[in-house]
Amino acid sequence: MFSNAELGIDLGTANLLVYSKDKGIILNEPSVVALNVETKDVLAVGTEAKSMVGKTPGNIVAVRPLKDGVIADFDVTTAMLKHVMKKASKKLGLSLRKPSVVVCAPSGSTSVERRAILDAIRSCGAKNVEIIEEPVAAAIGADLPVDEPVANVVVDIGGGTTEVAIISFGGVVSSNSVRIGGDKLDEDIIQYVRKAYNVLIGERTAEQIKIDIGYAPVEHQELTMDVRGRDLVTGLPKTIVLRSTEIQHAMNESLLQVLEAVRATLEDCPPELSGDIVDRGVILTGGGSLLNGMQDWLSDEIVVPVHLAPNPLESVAIGTGRSLKMIAKLQKASV
Ligand code: ADP
Ligand code: MG
Repeated sequence: MFSNAELGIDLGTANLLVYSKDKGIILNEPSVVALNVETKDVLAVGTEAKSMVGKTPGNIVAVRPLKDGVIADFDVTTAMLKHVMKKASKKLGLSLRKPSVVVCAPSGSTSVERRAILDAIRSCGAKNVEIIEEPVAAAIGADLPVDEPVANVVVDIGGGTTEVAIISFGGVVSSNSVRIGGDKLDEDIIQYVRKAYNVLIGERTAEQIKIDIGYAPVEHQELTMDVRGRDLVTGLPKTIVLRSTEIQHAMNESLLQVLEAVRATLEDCPPELSGDIVDRGVILTGGGSLLNGMQDWLSDEIVVPVHLAPNPLESVAIGTGRSLKMIAKLQKASV
């Protein structure tokens, strides 16, 4: 069935990854497109486009065409995918003629949203396109035995959403999704700095603060960071010193909502599978799972072991690619 080039694609809100069966991950770039507002020409895609965010002149905008794990702007998404496919074929050293593709979709997505994902991939010339449930892909990528009749719990904290799913026997038994992910934490930090210091910082600075000194609600040795922004009173550039504890506090509310989604899914679990969860625990994946203290905090709160996936930013792409082999065995997501 998959005779030509076989690719797995993780079309994430924050990052787009392409996995080839032979070469592993061949592409990993931010899902960002820089566009000329007037002509709608694509000027840059991926890392190059992300470096332009917040720094472009008026006629250039850097946009993220995916929102909450699904396509928000179809034309820009297809333009981005075309660029990415071109880059992928260069990396593979062959022209990608009618590749077979497996792409993931959030478990909460509607059939219309899935159709849009399929159409976008097909518009790049793909021949066979299959959709796999994102948490199932994440679980496969994290080496969990998804095709056995045991409960595998995956918590995937991405850019736009957090997806929690219990997977058993190749399918999703129960799942939950909240529209809170890494982006919301960045937003919390921007709002906090604006309120507390009257200083405006950009998205990329906020993300860096989160990565460097952001903590889940756990005790830790306090860190500080020098941050530059624009003073809202004088309008001039200003440097402030931020403490990790104040950033932790700023993100608290959003993190509690993530915890609530995990709790709700565990409460939903069929009793026969609950025992498995106590023994086997929960696996954390997605970029947001790398937040300092995340693993310890969650395991304290839900009183179940919490493990970090081997490559949290890559689990979904790896799982999507590996499913090329397994897909016949798995319960395919209905479209
Ligand atoms: P998506 O699947 O939505 O594309 P990813 O799983 O790629 O998202 O995760 C992207 C999110 O992870 C971003 O919000 C990014 O800021 C966040 N992230 C990446 N590394 C870290 C880190 N070390 N600490 C905290 N957050 C991180
Ligand atoms: Mg993801």
